Amino acid sequence: MSLTRTTCPYCGVGCGVLAGVDGTIKGDPDHPANFGRLCSKGSALGETIDLDGRLLAPMVDGQAATWDTALDRVASAFGDAVEKHGPDSVAFYVSGQLLTEDYYVANKLMKGYIGSANIDTNSRLCMASSVVGHERAYSTDTVPGIYEDLELADTIVLVGSNLAWCHPVLFQRIQAAKQARPHMKVVNIDPRITATSALADMHLQVAPDGDIALFNGLLAHLVDAGAVDADYVAQHVNGFETAVQAARVCDVSKSGIPATGLQAFFDLFAKTEKVVTIYSQGVNQSACGSDKVNAILNCHLATGRIGRPGMGPFSATGQPNAMGGREVGGLANMLANHLDIDNADHRDAVQGFWNSPTMCSELGLKAVDLFEACSNGKIKALWVMSTNPAVSLPHANHVADAIANVPFVAVSDIMANTDTGDLADVLLPAAGWGEKNGTVTNSERRVSRQRSFLPVPGEARPDWAIICDVAKRMGWGDAFAFETPQQMFAEYVGLSDAVQHFGKDLDMSAFADVDYEEFPPTHWPYNEKRFFADGGFYHPDGKAKMLPTMAPTDVIQDRYRLNTGRIRDQWHTMTRTGKAARLGSHLGEPFVEIHPEDALSLGVGPADILRLSTPTDAGLFRVMVTDSVVKGQLFAAMHWTRQNTTKGQVNGVVNVKTDPFSGQPALKGGQVDAVKFEAKWHGFLASINPPLPKVAYAATARSETGWRAEFASDGDLPPLEGLLATLTGSDDGVVSVVADQVTGLGRVARTKNGVLTDLFFVSSSPVAVSRNYITTLIGQDMPAIQALAGLPGADQPDPGAQICSCMNVGVNTVRAAILAGATTVDAIGTATGAGTNCGSCKPELAGLFESCQTPLAAE
Ligand code: SF4
Repeated sequence: MSLTRTTCPYCGVGCGVLAGVDGTIKGDPDHPANFGRLCSKGSALGETIDLDGRLLAPMVDGQAATWDTALDRVASAFGDAVEKHGPDSVAFYVSGQLLTEDYYVANKLMKGYIGSANIDTNSRLCMASSVVGHERAYSTDTVPGIYEDLELADTIVLVGSNLAWCHPVLFQRIQAAKQARPHMKVVNIDPRITATSALADMHLQVAPDGDIALFNGLLAHLVDAGAVDADYVAQHVNGFETAVQAARVCDVSKSGIPATGLQAFFDLFAKTEKVVTIYSQGVNQSACGSDKVNAILNCHLATGRIGRPGMGPFSATGQPNAMGGREVGGLANMLANHLDIDNADHRDAVQGFWNSPTMCSELGLKAVDLFEACSNGKIKALWVMSTNPAVSLPHANHVADAIANVPFVAVSDIMANTDTGDLADVLLPAAGWGEKNGTVTNSERRVSRQRSFLPVPGEARPDWAIICDVAKRMGWGDAFAFETPQQMFAEYVGLSDAVQHFGKDLDMSAFADVDYEEFPPTHWPYNEKRFFADGGFYHPDGKAKMLPTMAPTDVIQDRYRLNTGRIRDQWHTMTRTGKAARLGSHLGEPFVEIHPEDALSLGVGPADILRLSTPTDAGLFRVMVTDSVVKGQLFAAMHWTRQNTTKGQVNGVVNVKTDPFSGQPALKGGQVDAVKFEAKWHGFLASINPPLPKVAYAATARSETGWRAEFASDGDLPPLEGLLATLTGSDDGVVSVVADQVTGLGRVARTKNGVLTDLFFVSSSPVAVSRNYITTLIGQDMPAIQALAGLPGADQPDPGAQICSCMNVGVNTVRAAILAGATTVDAIGTATGAGTNCGSCKPELAGLFESCQTPLAAE
């Protein structure tokens, strides 16, 4: 079977994938981002491309409709709003999941034809602070280095970046480089101990937002240690003195790192020429994220360690096309080709190239402000494309209300039901990964083709085609007469050529002659790999700017500090990864990490449920007691939504504080109260039927045999006989109950024609059964009484919670291998298969040597 060369749709690493119509997925050995590697999410892509849950026809007011009806409705709603209330009464909220061609026409429509800059993207949540940091230091939004530098460096400094889980293939590249060159050092700077820490020679458990104090301390040390490159600074950098002055008055103790740790890090950085500092959301998603970025860039500019092999600051972007979106002006404060909205010459040049009737003249609304404008009635028509703001924005339930408040909402998505799509007047079925053609740009400025290998199902259409058809209906057919992605790419390249006289870094003109179908993954600029080794910054005098940065003033902390982030096996709001049973087995429900002393003082133990609340909202999360978070801090993952939990959407309890320069929300800076959820009963269900989240705490996930779900309630337990019908919506089959006469708690099984369809275990404390074993029983021909035992037989050892999702290996299997003599991760792989495919679980396998503990919530 022939395989199509395409690109992974998840993180910003941008791995090359070989994909087949039968769901075959392999890493592309020739793609320079991954050289054949894939992580657990990429490896499971083939399990996410079925049509289950897909939106296959347009829906208008909840009814299936023709494309003409749906597109007419969108065009007239936007046209009417613009006519009555002006261009700024409408908005697009788009996504780093869109391809560059989609992004290009969405921007062209909003900025050059509707005449507003109200188009922002979920990349605002991901790397907007890096954009500001780059712009302030270099006067351009440029990542100076490339992935190869991570392998050439002698020291890698990771800041706010759980690379092992969030950019796994980059982590694997560093891991392999360190194995090949053991003198390479890795420093992990993070308030949490994470899977990434397993590779680190030094883990600095920085205080939340303590990064500025840390890097200011480093800058002062570099000066004192004579590590400054005086020639580079003299020739290529402004602002050195003021930045150093600010660094010297900054209280380095605010970093929260003990003096010995600081000194060791400072000495290592000072004496190592080849240093790469990788940073991501732990830096960006902060109320002082832009200043954090500049504090990091200052240290590289002062030492001249930038743009040369093996050295430089490196922003790891979260999304597959966050970079491509930035390049075509995907943020509300920029134009295409890294041009500026508030520069009249830039606006005129872009408008002239587009020959458009109008052009936005003011900055548009950034994401958080955009949804506030929805809430207060300023936005009359909103189009959300390929993203899920009703659950991913901070204060998410307020955002959902704000979207519901907009008179007209269109949502383009591949899935029929999402938290945002459920609020739409018009749902537009978009083509998904595997069905679309276009380009994406990864974190190292490498443009790769995404190629279709599946037919577009039902009536779904590519995003660009939907956008162009709305534009045509609004009267701009000639400007949006694109028939192929290649035509849009060619126009984008032409724009780059037309504005080159502004001297911007983003030069796509060399792509004019490429064979769009065949062109290999390629950096821009075409023949230059790195920027700034010899200066050449984009401020008028060609110099970079070091910025004085100040550590944030102390915040009175009378509540818990809530940090949020991603987990290894899920992507964003799980609309795709949630389909793959093996990805749901690693961490199967919303959880909160809490320090043992905090757990003790709150009276919660492992697998209890914690209620986190702000004055306006609350959520429920399974407790994971761990000293990987420090006292006073909590960590919860961002992935769960109203589609799979009742109260597990963590962004409901995240505050809306934003960085004043980038508008990026401080998604890692929540302040919450915490109290034990006093559950009267807990339940675990395995079923062939999709469970209904009908009790106070419910979390559902796919299993290999159907579904699995966790329940807990502070209400009385209903009669067991009718409970399966309540929890699954089905009363089909014969129910058997084993009940404890005293407590009323017990076990319920249901069979149909002798085949086990449901098993439910209920208890007054968190249910202690082997979930992975229980789920394997569903669909088997077995007596109910045997299933109700809930324990594997002697001939069926319980594999335990899944640790390796590729090879389906449980933690008990790995523990047994360790006890039997496996002393290395490779030996575990030989004995069990764990870690032998994508390698994403290797950090956790390594951790098992130290503590035979795995997350209780998944067990
Ligand atoms: Fe996809 Fe994983 Fe590669 Fe990221 S690291 S692009 S999620 S395969």
